[in-house]
Amino acid sequence: MDERKQTPIRVLVVDDEPEIRDSYRQILQESEASLEMTGFHELRSRLFKKNPMEALRSHAASRTTSFEPVFCDQAQAAVTAVTEALARNQPFAVVFLDMRMPPGRDGVWAATQIRELDPAIEIVICTAYSDADPSEIGGLVPPEDKLSYLQKPFHPHEVRQMTIALASKWRAERRIVKLAYFDTLTGLPNRAQSHNRLVGALQAAKENTRTLAVLYLDLDNFKRVNDTLGHAAGDELLCVVAERLRTSVRYGNESDVHSAPGSARPGDIARLGGDEFLVLLPNLRTTVDAGAVAERLILALREPIQLASNSLVVTPSVGIAIYPQDGADAETLLRNADLAMYFAKRRSPGTWAYFDVSMNATALQRFTIEEQLRGALERNEFSLQYQPQFDVRTGGVSGVEALLRWTNAQLGAVNPTEFIPVAEETGLILAIGKWVLRSACRQAQAWRAEGLPVGRMAVNVSGRQFALAEFPQEVRGILEETGLDPAMLELEITESVVMADEAWAEKAINQLKALGISLAIDDFGTGYSSFGRLRHFAVDRLKIDRSFVTSITECSDDRAIAAAIIAMSRSLRINVTAEGVENFPQLAFLQEQDCQDAQGFLLSHPLHPDAARELLRRVNEVGDASRTQRLKAITG
Ligand code: C2E
Ligand code: MG
Ligand code: MG
Repeated sequence: MDERKQTPIRVLVVDDEPEIRDSYRQILQESEASLEMTGFHELRSRLFKKNPMEALRSHAASRTTSFEPVFCDQAQAAVTAVTEALARNQPFAVVFLDMRMPPGRDGVWAATQIRELDPAIEIVICTAYSDADPSEIGGLVPPEDKLSYLQKPFHPHEVRQMTIALASKWRAERRIVKLAYFDTLTGLPNRAQSHNRLVGALQAAKENTRTLAVLYLDLDNFKRVNDTLGHAAGDELLCVVAERLRTSVRYGNESDVHSAPGSARPGDIARLGGDEFLVLLPNLRTTVDAGAVAERLILALREPIQLASNSLVVTPSVGIAIYPQDGADAETLLRNADLAMYFAKRRSPGTWAYFDVSMNATALQRFTIEEQLRGALERNEFSLQYQPQFDVRTGGVSGVEALLRWTNAQLGAVNPTEFIPVAEETGLILAIGKWVLRSACRQAQAWRAEGLPVGRMAVNVSGRQFALAEFPQEVRGILEETGLDPAMLELEITESVVMADEAWAEKAINQLKALGISLAIDDFGTGYSSFGRLRHFAVDRLKIDRSFVTSITECSDDRAIAAAIIAMSRSLRINVTAEGVENFPQLAFLQEQDCQDAQGFLLSHPLHPDAARELLRRVNEVGDASRTQRLKAITG
């Protein structure tokens, strides 16, 4: 931590007189040998009033401070030295500037130039006699607290102690700046710093009519790493990601010597916080290059990362906004790049997207949904519809699926595929899901009381609900409260929810099954889970996703998949429901495969509770009839 003991203090000495430069050299190169250099005593008498070198020498052995002095004899050379030091990221802490350096420019000129290049450097003006009014120079070379004076002839201790004091002030300030502008974990510039950098780069792009790109990166599975492997592993992962970003941006510069795509510098990468990073491409040749850089960054991050005994693959989603077309100021560009990232992630994690204006409209709709969703339960805006599920072998109704409906004063009827993801992201689904479960159980119980053949009540459960440790308790409470026979309730969870955390899923499924209810895997076939893995879970039903059913009559692959799911389920004694049956050829195929249940618009749309009740009443009336007759009579 203590920089003082590790790195020498970099000092720039600017004086036209070789003897004076030598005397500085004596003071700042503190080895015993250098202090005893020949000719020193002679100089000493010329420069210093007393004879203080003995004292200096006697303390040399106990010193911990070391210096790295650089010497210049003219003002112009000093300005060049400061420029170069900054470019190498090895800035000087202190510069000693002689006031008069004939025939070149004077110390005040050099000080003004240097101050402009390096706002942090401590400047010391050395005057042989009172040839300048310090108050005047102070005005020329602000800030005053970084400007000191030294009167010649000086005492070596004075120079040495002054250097140490100023350097320690300089270092403390640098540390503060580091804390304020750099991310302590990865060492990358932080949000504040990257904002300053973006503002500067935008100004330059405007002046030179250049194109600039902002890449907004967000890791896709970081939260999971943090949650499962702990924060230390998460931190380590972020450091690896930062390093890979640095390397791939650097690599990009070297590989395209003539026209590096976007030509980012190391300072153009920043950590915005959490698992969000920013890459600035300040000088873009064509907008296509920004996509190429995004692609390269994704590839670089996708390489497995070894963390302790775990090999992890993290992918970023990347959004790109381009100046001038996507925004003229830093805030707009950042917001639009963030939005593009969000869309890329939504569409498919681990990909990138350019911002486009339609994203704003979609985002606005999403925010309106979120806003309106907040009070929706209290305002009684939800209702349930019930879609019958048919036993295709007998033609009877085997159950109904409760489907959530939302009608809002401002938005009208909103599709569940639109508002349920928002409810999930915001956590509102927990309260809404509880309402759905209670309402559906109450309805089923009411129909039962009327003697209607409900069979089973299927209720969709969000991954957020399923992940709650208290969820099984909640279900039990609702069953008790509504008096519904647990055997009538079937909860539908999606395949991806089960596969997201198999150990947890197994435990939760067993707890739910212990209540006496059934479990179905919804949208089966879309989550790429293997049948073999699913077998370990005590599920009662698979619902073949609509996409397979839809293409039964068109795509022989999907037909084969549907047939295989049905056959394998039968051998595992798991029930099967085909979702989204819309026409007779599909139904015929399912009957041929001896699929048990089917659900779809061909048989019945989701129904208002009154219409569902009417349908159940007809089921009761049909009694003994052929399969086809029953289906016809029931569905009307
Ligand atoms: P899901 O659970 O797979 O529900 C079946 C969806 O397919 C329903 O859409 C239904 O109206 C639709 N559908 C049924 N038959 C056909 C057909 O023949 N053709 C076509 N094209 N579509 C058909 P819906 O009601 O819009 O619900 C969409 C999804 O929203 C549901 O898919 C489910 O994942 C979710 N959802 C609905 N209600 C709830 C709920 O109460 N809680 C949770 N967590 N999710 C729900
Ligand atoms: Mg469902
Ligand atoms: Mg489904």
